[in-house]
Amino acid sequence: MEQYDFLIVGGGIFGIYAALFLRGQGQRVLLVEKEKVLLKKASIVNQARLHSGYHYPRSVATARMSDDNKARFTADHQDFINFEFEKYYAIDRFGSFTDAAQFERFCAFIGIPCEPVERHPYFNYHRLEALYKTVEYTFDPILIAEYYRQRLYEASPEVTPRLFTEVVNAAADGDQWQVGLKALESGKLETVKARQVINATYAGSNAINRLFGVRDIDLMHEISEMAFVNSPQVRDIGLTIMDGPFGSIMPYGKSGLLSLSSVAYTHHKVSYDNLPTFDCQQVNTNCRPDFTDICNFCPAKPASNYRKMLGQIRHYFTDKVEFQYFTSMFTVKSKLKASYIDDGRPTEISVLHENPKFYCIFAGKINSIYEIEKVVSL
Ligand SMILES: Cc1cc2nc3c(=O)[nH]c(=O)nc-3n(C[C@H](O)[C@H](O)[C@H](O)COP(=O)(O)OP(=O)(O)OC[C@H]3O[C@@H](n4cnc5c(N)ncnc54)[C@H](O)[C@@H]3O)c2cc1C
Repeated sequence: MEQYDFLIVGGGIFGIYAALFLRGQGQRVLLVEKEKVLLKKASIVNQARLHSGYHYPRSVATARMSDDNKARFTADHQDFINFEFEKYYAIDRFGSFTDAAQFERFCAFIGIPCEPVERHPYFNYHRLEALYKTVEYTFDPILIAEYYRQRLYEASPEVTPRLFTEVVNAAADGDQWQVGLKALESGKLETVKARQVINATYAGSNAINRLFGVRDIDLMHEISEMAFVNSPQVRDIGLTIMDGPFGSIMPYGKSGLLSLSSVAYTHHKVSYDNLPTFDCQQVNTNCRPDFTDICNFCPAKPASNYRKMLGQIRHYFTDKVEFQYFTSMFTVKSKLKASYIDDGRPTEISVLHENPKFYCIFAGKINSIYEIEKVVSL
């Protein structure tokens, strides 16, 4: 029976970063991923905002945590970050949970720059109470995914990625976990032992928690769409409208495309169950609440809302600005139920079992990949 120091379940950016970090500490690591490829879910289907705090006027804790990790993430991923665009935040005149004075106070409190812009040829001031030039960048999820895939393969065989593999059972055996794995291609079963387990499966968190007999974390889930558009005029401009059912548009890293999202239209379906449970799983039976598929490739994914998203964001720009829709990507977005009111996105790492240890990483933002270093004991 193979013996590991750590079994990590989930081959997104959090699982891979944890695997590389632990390998760097001399640990023997097995990484198990249910898909045939790594990094195909939330790690690439996101808005790519390198959070600086602006986005969370209702959650000072999330705003502060964004800033904690930003400098290190930026330094480590310089080649994959777009520093070259102008980033604006604006307050909608109608229906915002914040106003100009409050937003300015919040930025001053957190210590992030926000400079009022009285005039700009591309923005529609009839709709904006205030416009601010800010400092916020985007990372390129596709380039970052490629970088981590490469690093993982370079770290092999000390870190073994086991793709298209399912965890079928698990039990504590003295001070170790004994875990049954099934190769989904061949059906071959194998049992491994690990001193510690890290669950980094994001939308799959509670399915894995239940297999290990530990408690759920309280989650809700949404099938989410990121739309991608071109614009000759605002190719190098980002705009986020605060704070309510509005939209955001900004360069998707260095791709030349703009990612477009909307609080009202990005989320197509919602599940308040701890496991992501959607009616489309009755059409695509490969996707189950305890074993979700890749939405992006799913024949039952929802029809795009890009027209609504574009219609909404156009209100904030003048007629000079044109947009052309390119494509959309879909994934399950999971959130802590506790964040429902303040809209915070903390990254929480819970120790759900002691001796042997079981950690569950629930990731709120990509630049918090380093949080595992603070928690894990070797
Ligand atoms: C629409 C959207 C917009 C976002 N915008 C931003 C943003 O602008 N900035 C930001 O910083 N963050 C953003 N986020 C959040 C960020 O994308 C996530 O916090 C982060 O990607 C989570 O990474 P992960 O590795 O934990 O999850 P994932 O990338 O989802 O990886 C989890 C992996 O676990 C695997 N898995 C699941 N179940 C099992 C199982 N049973 N067995 C084995 N493997 C399993 C999955 O197949 C997957 O590969 C956004 C998220 C979404 C969805």
